[in-house]
Amino acid sequence: MRNENQKLSDFQPLSKAANDAKRQFCKECMITKIRYDAKQLGYPMSYYEGSAKHNNEENACVGCYWYDPLEFKRHLKEKK
Ligand SMILES: [Zn+2]
Repeated sequence: MRNENQKLSDFQPLSKAANDAKRQFCKECMITKIRYDAKQLGYPMSYYEGSAKHNNEENACVGCYWYDPLEFKRHLKEKK
């Protein structure tokens, strides 16, 4: 069922494929202790928060591209 009045932003607009990729990449973050560097995807910055170091805490991936690609892109626009 489709509701045309719902905005795309009302959802966590990640496809299943994107969610699978995210889970896979963040698993690697945990193993390597180094968070995914978004520069590998051609972005001009690596993380929107924090550094490359993964501290193994529950929210350690916050700031890494795969944690929230949309949030990452929002930060890209802010950074001038
Ligand atoms: Zn991660």
